[in-house]
Amino acid sequence: MIEVRNVRKIYKGKGVDTVAVNGVSFEISEGEFVGIIGKSGSGKSTLLNLIGGLDDADEGEILYNGTNISKMNLKQKASFRNNDLGFVFQFYNLENNFSVGMNVAVPLIVANVNKKERETRVQTALDKLGVGDKIKKKPTELSGGECQRVAIARAIVNNPKIILADEPTGNLDTENGKIVMDYLKKLNEEGITIVLVTHNLEHADYCDRIIVMQDGKILSDSREVCK
Ligand code: ADP
Repeated sequence: MIEVRNVRKIYKGKGVDTVAVNGVSFEISEGEFVGIIGKSGSGKSTLLNLIGGLDDADEGEILYNGTNISKMNLKQKASFRNNDLGFVFQFYNLENNFSVGMNVAVPLIVANVNKKERETRVQTALDKLGVGDKIKKKPTELSGGECQRVAIARAIVNNPKIILADEPTGNLDTENGKIVMDYLKKLNEEGITIVLVTHNLEHADYCDRIIVMQDGKILSDSREVCK
């Protein structure tokens, strides 16, 4: 599904370059729940952004179902981001001036889905995350855990194949973190591939594969160990 081949990403600074991802190769198969763990600064977020096509690698390539994502044209890339991927971030990235329902509707508006179908799909996604009754509220009226569940509803409203989640529990207490992880697990069991960046080792139990990063490289990959 995803093939990462010899990928390097270098941030050029004044006089100093940072090699954030330093020659990384691995594959992600459909249906996996992959955890990418490692210390802060080890390159996890950079790698996730590269996989999501939010940034381009300096070397190497990332293929999605055989297509090099950095070589996709604008239409292909937009379709990849809107239809195949769902993003979940640590700080939810919700629009506080919009209602919860409107926040979740945004990807459907981008995809030109009509209003009636939008309403049904938004309600279904929110119900699935147990926050269907919050549809008219503003994100500022919700707890952090509820905001993250709304953000996950937004990520799944277009029926993506993959969820890329960057520290989705990083801003939550233990109980809400567990609730969010339980929902991600449920979505994985329904067939969505999940790539989760976390530094919370307790969440490793939810993953069926753990990739450990250190200094931009893969230190270990539990799938390789199991082979
Ligand atoms: P992690 O997610 O594991 O904390 P990151 O991928 O955020 O690691 O960062 C990897 C390295 O790249 C770090 O040294 C970080 O400071 C650097 N870095 C990340 N983003 C940028 C950026 N936009 N500009 C310059 N350096 C960056």
